[in-house]
Amino acid sequence: MKIGVLAMQGAYREHLQMLKALGVEAIDVRYEEDIDNIDGLIIPGGESTTMGKLIKTLGLYNKLKSRIENGMPVWGTCAGMILLAKNIVNENYNHLAVMDINVRRNAYGRQLGSFETKALVKGIGDNIEMVFIRAPYIESVGENIEILSTVDGNIVAAQEENMLVTSFHPELTEDLRMHKYFVDIVAKSIK
Ligand code: GLN
Repeated sequence: MKIGVLAMQGAYREHLQMLKALGVEAIDVRYEEDIDNIDGLIIPGGESTTMGKLIKTLGLYNKLKSRIENGMPVWGTCAGMILLAKNIVNENYNHLAVMDINVRRNAYGRQLGSFETKALVKGIGDNIEMVFIRAPYIESVGENIEILSTVDGNIVAAQEENMLVTSFHPELTEDLRMHKYFVDIVAKSIK
């Protein structure tokens, strides 16, 4: 099993370290060819507008979208959630547009929007460490979406079959449980 981390920009190194800590082979994804060599992909936090532009100008967009639509497991954290959403409620564009969620960008405000908390994530565990940095949250979801976690009434984790999204950054904590959950999704998908 090989898991890729989209390495255009943002917090990709930390995800690679978490995967390695779990004993999983993990690679940077920078070129279109890299997408052929992975069983699952993490799209990290960072700046969604920059990442969205780079996946297009560097030629990764079409292959990424089609592999996800064909069932490759993908996990978007923070900006990665924005990249996967079909609808960004406070912007007039979208990016990969594969997951049926309505996401608000910079939902906690631009300057004071960073905080940490611990909360329950359904099917994964309680007191999951969550770091929010100018994070989005999910305002509403389509029919086939399972809501995995809410903080202060806002949806911060959800799943639709092969697609997982979190508003927060587990890769900036010591808590490996979210990564373990995603690794298990990938392992099941290649059985
Ligand atoms: N505010 C960023 C965006 O809208 C996301 C921040 C993050 O990924 N930590 O793209």
